[in-house]
Amino acid sequence: MNAVDRWPPVPDGSPFGVANLPFGIFSQPEPAARGGFRRIGVAVGDNVLDLSPLFGDDCFAAPTLDGFLARGRRMWSGTRARITELLTDPHYQGAVSPHLLPRSEVVLHLPFTVADYVDFYCSLDHASNVGRIFRPDAEPLLPNWRHLPVGYHGRAGTVVVSGTPVVRPSGQRRPPGAETPMFGPSVRLDIEAEVGFVVGVGSPLGEPVPIEAFADHVFGVVLLNDWSARDIQAWESQPLGPFLGKSFATSISPWVVPLEALAAARVKGRAQDPAPLPYLRRTEPWALDLSIEVALNGTVVSRPPFATMYWTPDQMLAHLTVNGASTRTGDLYGSGTVSGPDPSQRGSLIELTWNGTEPLVLADGSTRSFLEDGDTVTMSATAPAADGTRLTLGEVTGTIHPARPTP
Ligand code: CA
Repeated sequence: MNAVDRWPPVPDGSPFGVANLPFGIFSQPEPAARGGFRRIGVAVGDNVLDLSPLFGDDCFAAPTLDGFLARGRRMWSGTRARITELLTDPHYQGAVSPHLLPRSEVVLHLPFTVADYVDFYCSLDHASNVGRIFRPDAEPLLPNWRHLPVGYHGRAGTVVVSGTPVVRPSGQRRPPGAETPMFGPSVRLDIEAEVGFVVGVGSPLGEPVPIEAFADHVFGVVLLNDWSARDIQAWESQPLGPFLGKSFATSISPWVVPLEALAAARVKGRAQDPAPLPYLRRTEPWALDLSIEVALNGTVVSRPPFATMYWTPDQMLAHLTVNGASTRTGDLYGSGTVSGPDPSQRGSLIELTWNGTEPLVLADGSTRSFLEDGDTVTMSATAPAADGTRLTLGEVTGTIHPARPTP
């Protein structure tokens, strides 16, 4: 049965059911008459619902979600409710069907203009693993870790949409045992499986966002791969932190899943000891039960559980604004690498291969410590949906291209 011949237009078992309805930006390469016109769509079943002809509002004919995001929570909620009505009431089938376009025939784009980008470090298991790898004789967590969500400001302009090639970065690195650095392509190129949070409504300079206002500001979530050149990072980040080892590319999934779609995925979150300072105390359950899967050249290498994160996204937003830093539409913040307690749940190669000492074996028999040219990494995630099905966050994928010649 063609998906459009049933109402709602969702094949059985589709993770893009009417309880999901993620927002993205698409264009049609054909017919050429449409001129590659970028506009807002919502994924449903195997299709994209073209919102611009159905809603008499210019914000849906825009080439980014920016205008829609800035309109705020009542608009987000009202739009979602109306789309749900259009897709479930058979009365609308005739009017809506012409605006369902097969997803296989559209191109997806970066969904919003990334304003500022922050990356956190919120997984207890990830931070502990990294501490054990680099400081084997010391306490794995640094003294501040359980008191605040550690983070840094990254490079917004190099956040790219899923499918964008990732060119292997070149830079300085100091090989083990060497006294001076050398220059060349990174030989320790890694991934970080993360969840990204998209700010719709910003906050003014000087005014911290209270933790309970999280859902008034954050519209939804994406999957995020924080590509990381471990050798460049290790040499350059003393004493300040991540710089060129991270800023060459950060990939995100094309569909932004609204927080409202994740109501059934909300869980209490991990116990925190010691109790955080008052501004970081949770008022609502905003840990999210997202099951992430990481595949390297088609072999699933990890299944990180987002529900095991120590710091939750409401705490991240409260912390990043507590000094009065403003936020704006399109701000993106990543959770940090998602790693669970089990070795099969580690969200980076440096952990999965224990700093390269235990290479992974892929389905084709080849082994990997870090990424090789031509490798493709694909992350996907599912979560419980309000109607008892599972919804998907879609996927974020990228293929490593060889380093460019150095000038
Ligand atoms: Ca990261």
